[in-house]
Amino acid sequence: MEPSPDELRRAIAVLAHELRNPLSVFRAGVDLLSTEDSQQAQIKEVLLRQTMQMTRLVEDLSDISRAELNKLRIERRPLRLQEVVEETVDGLQHVLARRRQRLEMQVSTEPIWISGDRVRIGQMLSNLLSNASKYSKADSQIDLRVEIDRGRACLRVRDFGIGIAEDDLARIFDFLSQCESREAIEHCEGGLGIGLALARQIAGGHDGSITAHSEGLGKGSEFQVRLPTISRDAWESIPELDNRTFTPCRVLVVDDNRSSQLLLPALIGRLGDHEVEVAASGEETLEVLAAFTPDLILLDLGLPDMSGIELARIVRGMELMTETRIVALTGFDNEDFRELAAKAGIDAYRVKPVSVEMLRSVFEELNLRGPTSDSPIAGVSSS
Ligand code: ADP
Repeated sequence: MEPSPDELRRAIAVLAHELRNPLSVFRAGVDLLSTEDSQQAQIKEVLLRQTMQMTRLVEDLSDISRAELNKLRIERRPLRLQEVVEETVDGLQHVLARRRQRLEMQVSTEPIWISGDRVRIGQMLSNLLSNASKYSKADSQIDLRVEIDRGRACLRVRDFGIGIAEDDLARIFDFLSQCESREAIEHCEGGLGIGLALARQIAGGHDGSITAHSEGLGKGSEFQVRLPTISRDAWESIPELDNRTFTPCRVLVVDDNRSSQLLLPALIGRLGDHEVEVAASGEETLEVLAAFTPDLILLDLGLPDMSGIELARIVRGMELMTETRIVALTGFDNEDFRELAAKAGIDAYRVKPVSVEMLRSVFEELNLRGPTSDSPIAGVSSS
């Protein structure tokens, strides 16, 4: 029996949750890699980008599981379109090589600046190019044009493959929609009909548009994305990398995952000279708290002996812990959990993967100051 849409959504939600834990470990590990050696710095850059890409994909799965596709998160920054194009094409070389397909690129040499989300634009282009490859024959040609056209940044992906019937053109951008021609089914390689729906959300989220053209079955297809451009000056206003540290705090990490126990204290170390203790269960937490009063508890919600929510309630009832801030670090991206957490006295809720950037935002949001600091300004210093 086919799974119902609700069952599918539940399965996707579980998958997204399960993927967040290993991803969190990758992200923390990448953040901790050294950048002193220039070759290592390059490797770190590549790993970081791919981990971010995976993170966004997992977030998409979550979006889908909540059927909130029209609420896709898009973080825009000034961006040179050609850079994303190069990166995306590089990442797809193996797909094209596998089918011996030629990519004919006509990319404007004049820099094209847009206000865009690097990962999302890459994801959209990657979907279009993979489709062009998937829905055409081996040894065929795919054209990619990137230019300014009538004042807008314009990306065109054209293939000479199976084409799209007129009736289907109107609905291929719908969520979970796939063409029903024999050729389309033969070529879809287990796709779910999500790629173009995401592409439409991404183009729309950038105040742009995406359209599809085909003369009909067997006549190839062309997809065109149009995005507003910005002037180059906006690029120069991007802030430098944030290296600030915070006045020393006492932090308790509660997580039963061994990799997190190792990596979280190291990540926290990047934010200053903090005193960090680790506990792997509810019971161990209570033992540690008998001798250690943390300013901050980073709490995984899925513990072996009790739920993190239950543990937070117990901690909130302890006399010495009234000033302690509790932050849930979890793979559950779910409104019900957020609400339960807030009711149990949890101050902030963050969805894995954990990164230096995320922990910094926690320290900033909670305005954390160590017990020894009596500075009137938030305990932030530059290093
Ligand atoms: P899928 O994972 O099924 O490829 P998409 O959302 O990317 O999902 O595409 C939706 C449908 O649109 C596909 O199932 C396919 O039938 C059709 N389609 C997309 N791109 C092309 C193309 N370049 N040529 C022919 N058909 C395409």
